[in-house]
Order: sequence, then structure tokens, then C-alpha cells
Amino acid sequence: GATIRLDGVVKQYKGTDAPAVEKLDLQLDAGDIVAFVGPSGCGKTTTLKMINRLIEPTQGRIYIGDRDVTGENPDKLRQSIGYVIQSGGLFPHWSVSKNIGALPRVLGWDKKKIADRTEYLLDLVGLDAATFADRLPKDMSGGQQQRVGVARALAADPPVLLMDEPFGAVDPITRVRLQDSLIAIQHELGKTIAIVTHDFEEATKLGDKVCIFSEGGHVEQFAAPEEILAN
Ligand code: ADP
Ligand code: ADP
Repeated sequence: GATIRLDGVVKQYKGTDAPAVEKLDLQLDAGDIVAFVGPSGCGKTTTLKMINRLIEPTQGRIYIGDRDVTGENPDKLRQSIGYVIQSGGLFPHWSVSKNIGALPRVLGWDKKKIADRTEYLLDLVGLDAATFADRLPKDMSGGQQQRVGVARALAADPPVLLMDEPFGAVDPITRVRLQDSLIAIQHELGKTIAIVTHDFEEATKLGDKVCIFSEGGHVEQFAAPEEILAN
């Protein structure tokens, strides 16, 4: 994993009269899972998208490792940051293996390396490669699609994984399985993971650190779950 640092980051959307995110100073240590939690509209997704360069901060700087990525083209970050969204975000007309191999193909990896990587990742996320490699997303459950979404985000072995409500659309039992699977992946790969959730229980279960956002885009608390639960 790589350290992610936000230094005085502010975001005010055009045409709004108050910032969505206020003066954020935050360090996500390498190899930690950090859970962004808080009510809807308090700036969690905005913060994640600024790290991902999908949104430009109004002020402040963002670093991944030693690299100042503020102002960088998001396409240049695809090898450094994997991104998982709620709906899985898979290309519907592409098979599982084609989805997972999308970025490696762009990067010019040879076929054998892509096939090996795909098999490894499917195994890592708990899907049988022989069964699922050629399947289309529509012929899979929401939870299975989300597993493929995670595998795809990890395809080029990025040090950072950003997840926006990744388990928000699945049933409670599948959700617990996916959470356990993510913890196992984290132990295996040691990525720096930021995960947005509105579920406090999920945040304290998954997070090495929990970052509690409050109304107006402020960070109210940033601490280990034990410390947060003790208060
Ligand atoms: P969360 O992820 O915590 O639900 P968001 O980061 O999505 O919160 O939104 C934070 C605030 O910014 C909200 O008040 C939201 O309405 C506002 N916002 C989000 N995207 C835009 C946009 N593109 N233009 C204007 N305001 C936006
Ligand atoms: P939404 O508006 O639904 O939150 P986004 O606009 O954030 O979706 O992302 C659109 C698509 O682009 C997603 O399917 C996501 O997987 C992909 N994407 C965005 N950023 C990255 C990235 N850094 N690496 C890989 N894929 C990305």
C-alpha cells in the first residue's frame, strides 16, 4: 500500500454557497483500511473522488506516497488507484475475464500474464475461474458482480483501493460475506483501502481507522474503532 495524504483540502462545487468538504487534513497510512462514515451529503464521496482525481479540489493538495497528484490526469492514476462503486460498474456486454483484463490490456500485458492474473484474482475474491471467467455480468448475482468489481479494481495491482458503498446494494448475508472477503484480501495484499459507507457497524468492523464526517463536510473524529466505540 501507499500513504494517502490530504493537506488543507476544500471542495466547493460551482453554484453552491457552502463547501461540500471543509479544510481536510487527513493521513491514511499505508496498508490501512480507513472507513469514511457519516450521514448522506456530508462529503464522503466527494473526498473519495478527489483522491481519485474524478473531482478537482478547490484548495489544498493530495499526495499518494511521495507523489503530489493534485491536478494530475485521472487516467494516469489508474495503475495506482483501483476504484469500486456500488453497482459494480462492470461493462455489461463483456465477460468476467474481459472486464478484469481491461486495464492490463490497455497497459500492454501479454495474454498469458493477463490470464494468470485473472485466475489469481478470481480465486482471491472467491469465484471459481472455470465457472465464471466467460460469464456475463447479467447472469450473476449482485454479490458475485461485486466480487468481480473488486477483482477488476485490483487487476493492475494498484497500491490503493477506493470503494464507494461497495456493499450497499446486496442483501445482509451477502454483505457480511463480502466484508469478510475484503478483510481477507487486505491481509493477503496489504493495500491502502478507503471505503465509504453510511453503515457505522460496517465502518467499525472493516476500518483500522474510522473517519466520521459530519454535516457541512467536516471530519468530526478520526481514530481506531476501539477508541470511537469507547466514547
Ligand atoms: P456523501 O458521499 O457523504 O453522501 P457527497 O460528497 O456526495 O456526500 O456530497 C456532499 C455535498 O455536496 C452534498 O451537499 C451534495 O449535495 C453536494 N454535491 C455533490 N455533488 C455535487 C455537484 N456535482 N454539484 C453540486 N453539489 C454537489
Ligand atoms: P459514478 O458517477 O457512478 O460514481 P464514476 O463516474 O465515479 O461513477 O466512475 C465511472 C466508471 O469509471 C466506474 O465504472 C469506475 O469503475 C471507472 N473508474 C473511475 N475511476 C477509475 C480509476 N481510477 N480506476 C479504474 N476505474 C475507474
